[in-house]
Amino acid sequence: MRQPLVIGNWKMNGSLVFTEELLHTLEARIDDKISCEMGICAPFVYIKFATELTKRSVIKIGAQNVSEFSAGAYTGEVSASMLKELGTHWVLIGHSERRSLFNEANTALVQKVLAAQSAGLTPVYCVGETEDDYKSGKTFNVIADQVGALLGSADVDLNNLVLAYEPVWAIGTGLTASPEEAQKVHAFIRALVKEKNIESADGVRILYGGSVKPDNAGSLFGQNDIDGGLIGGASLDADAFVSICQQA
Ligand code: PEP
Repeated sequence: MRQPLVIGNWKMNGSLVFTEELLHTLEARIDDKISCEMGICAPFVYIKFATELTKRSVIKIGAQNVSEFSAGAYTGEVSASMLKELGTHWVLIGHSERRSLFNEANTALVQKVLAAQSAGLTPVYCVGETEDDYKSGKTFNVIADQVGALLGSADVDLNNLVLAYEPVWAIGTGLTASPEEAQKVHAFIRALVKEKNIESADGVRILYGGSVKPDNAGSLFGQNDIDGGLIGGASLDADAFVSICQQA
């Protein structure tokens, strides 16, 4: 049995006041209708504050990026051990905005996964095809390439890993893959993991991301290989995020 997981990605939004208010509101709303694991990936500068605010709650805090390097002359970078020191649990790696806006490519992303795991963080490795890939029928090739890069590394710990399938054309657009379409990609990802390790494939959680809202979460999460969601816009709204978590 895989425990469902819902992670909010705040992206570059918020403030100290926003962080405090939203986390307090979320905590106050957590009740026995929520049985999924919950995470919030906050901007770096709010992580320490967020981990302190959620010390006694089930919400685990994450980062949205991490350096592939452990220390040294890398101005502006933040290492995995620094994040761990702040109480960070998750770290998003390879979000499509990092891949497209900051030219992050598979090779460096795999190094980031390794850096995160060796510091004791749980990486959430994101994959997904662009609109052009989707329209030209290349979804499975792109996914095979992105997931294959990760699985090609003998050092990746498949038992301390979350995968997220986020079609790029669905992120922040209000469009979503249909539950059946998303399920096919999730099953494909799980089959790729299975080629490497059957037990890890059964245990690894694969989240769906891309305009998940309270009105479509239930049908997406109802699919066999969709183990929860990576939520952008809707994670900035307590009512919407709680409703999505209740449905997971
Ligand atoms: C995301 O940023 O990972 C995301 C899925 O965003 P949204 O839910 O806004 O589409």
